[in-house]
Amino acid sequence: MPTFTAPVKDMQFILHDVLKASEQDVPGYDELDRDFTSAILEEAGKLAGDVFAPLNAVGDQEGVRLENGVVYTPKGFKEAFDQFREGGWTGLDCDPEYGGQGLPYLLSTATGEIFSASNMAFMMYPGLTHGAYSAIHAHGSDEQKQTFLPKMVTCEWTGTMNLTEPHCGTDLGLMRTKAEPQDDGSYKITGQKIFISAGDHDMSDNVIHLVLAKIPGGPDGIKGVSLFIVPKFIVNDDNTPGARNSLSVGKIEEKMGIHGNATCVMNYDGATGYLLGEAHKGMRAMFTMMNEARLGVGMQGLSQATVAYENALAYAKDRLQGRAVTGTENPDGPADPLIVHPDIRRSLMDQKSFVEGARAFGLWGAELIDRAHRSKDAEAEGLVSLMTPVLKGFLTDQGFDMTVLAQQIYGGHGYIEEWGMSQFTRDARITMIYEGANGVQALDLVGRKLASGGGKPAMAFFEEIKSFIKANSDDEELKTQFMDPLKQASKQLQEAAMFFMAQGMKNPNEALAGSYDFMHLFGHVCLGYMWARMAVAAKAALAAGAEDKDFYETKLVTGRYYMARRLPACAMHVARITSGADPVMALDAANF
Ligand SMILES: Cc1cc2nc3c(=O)[nH]c(=O)nc-3n(C[C@H](O)[C@H](O)[C@H](O)COP(=O)(O)OP(=O)(O)OC[C@H]3O[C@@H](n4cnc5c(N)ncnc54)[C@H](O)[C@@H]3O)c2cc1C
Repeated sequence: MPTFTAPVKDMQFILHDVLKASEQDVPGYDELDRDFTSAILEEAGKLAGDVFAPLNAVGDQEGVRLENGVVYTPKGFKEAFDQFREGGWTGLDCDPEYGGQGLPYLLSTATGEIFSASNMAFMMYPGLTHGAYSAIHAHGSDEQKQTFLPKMVTCEWTGTMNLTEPHCGTDLGLMRTKAEPQDDGSYKITGQKIFISAGDHDMSDNVIHLVLAKIPGGPDGIKGVSLFIVPKFIVNDDNTPGARNSLSVGKIEEKMGIHGNATCVMNYDGATGYLLGEAHKGMRAMFTMMNEARLGVGMQGLSQATVAYENALAYAKDRLQGRAVTGTENPDGPADPLIVHPDIRRSLMDQKSFVEGARAFGLWGAELIDRAHRSKDAEAEGLVSLMTPVLKGFLTDQGFDMTVLAQQIYGGHGYIEEWGMSQFTRDARITMIYEGANGVQALDLVGRKLASGGGKPAMAFFEEIKSFIKANSDDEELKTQFMDPLKQASKQLQEAAMFFMAQGMKNPNEALAGSYDFMHLFGHVCLGYMWARMAVAAKAALAAGAEDKDFYETKLVTGRYYMARRLPACAMHVARITSGADPVMALDAANF
């Protein structure tokens, strides 16, 4: 069965050598010194490796079950959740006013990767709760916050997000669930929601559903959608769970992966709900948490690549097949280990250079979110909003691809279930779909984000890369191996953006036909930028006489691989984009 060891050293490198977190002028970052973050990450790693990882296959095989209206989680989940709660992990970055620890989002993003890598299906229970917590925190009345947040911070009560209906997922304006106002100020919620993650289970005393619904008589379409708090048990005056609300689980979906998470059909039959935020402004309320939620899903995609790579690497060192073409490397054995073969190396380097680059990208995104929230930095807000579809779409697409590469290293043993590798691929697959399918992320990037704020965030992005390259081009090795390829890729990204601006105005299909390529092109430039930053940091550490020379030299070797072997994908993407809409749209629908 697969194992998981948290990549603490790598995270420490990104937090301290690359982002220099504790030196940043962001409230709360002064606490993030090396010893502190190391202690937190090590502890998270222990819980993840010792408790959650062994339950990953259990959850996959057992799944959840619905019996007489009650949802039961797999064996061991409840006890593991208690341990998670007792360790205070549920409220790491939550507001201290409601019992949270108030630590930066940067740190909870790092621990989030660790926990999701060990057991993604399990982590979705507190993950969804955090999403619901953030919505109530941002839009709730004082009374709502006092009632729900303290229990949600501790996950005594968990949360869900109910958007999707059978006939609408992306186009939520088509929603039918209705919310009828009552004399006491509450609403009666009626309708069906499908695919609701962590929709119900036996691990908490109450489930706080956030439900999007339409108040009759409101505006048509998406402008008429409001957000409601709909608890499974109505909360008593003394803040204990009381009468059962009129809602039930209709069914648990059978699905490809994340079997340990209850994906529920939720039926609301005149259930009591409370308006959260303003009427008809439900989508706006959802949008305020979108950057965090989408980065969170991006990190899930990365997390499956992380754990899959770790296991594939161990297997490649252990499995003996064939001989190295340049001469035997294991003369005492019947064959050499897989890792001697160049094609296996290519796969492992693809995985390693993605995982480490993506981790830096995700943590940089989290830093920008902290800057936006804690320092009210509008430029950071603009930049992270621009990059959010890239963080979500690129990290999940590539994360999934990397789990497939890891599976391939096991040959047939990757395809059968015994070795546990297929679970990573199956679990990773959903990250490309939920929280806005990746095609819709690309649409958001090109259709909205690129031109938002008069294009200022996009210009700020290009400017940041340009000044970074300028500041680090004196060192000849860094220049030729990192800065020059980054400059080239950044130019290709600008070329694509210019093409959209020139052609997209005349015909939007010209831009949208290239949107998916643009998202990937953007992702590669971001990872190229991260590798260039990591190379600068590694060189600085080596020049300062760092003890662990191997670690920093390995960073340089891995970064060079990314620049030489992965970044050239930018040329392909820009060629596709500038071929325009015609090759994509030319065929009449009837001729497919
Ligand atoms: C396991 C699982 C868990 C989930 N958890 C939750 C949850 O907790 N809460 C919740 O509310 N929902 C949840 N979902 C639902 C998920 O968010 C939706 O499935 C997703 O948003 C896509 O909606 P859809 O399935 O209706 O697909 P559709 O909206 O029908 O889209 C189908 C395809 O068309 C593409 N598409 C749609 N519109 C456009 C367009 N304008 N341009 C280009 N392409 C387009 C999409 O990218 C997609 O590939 C979950 C789904 C699953 C499977």
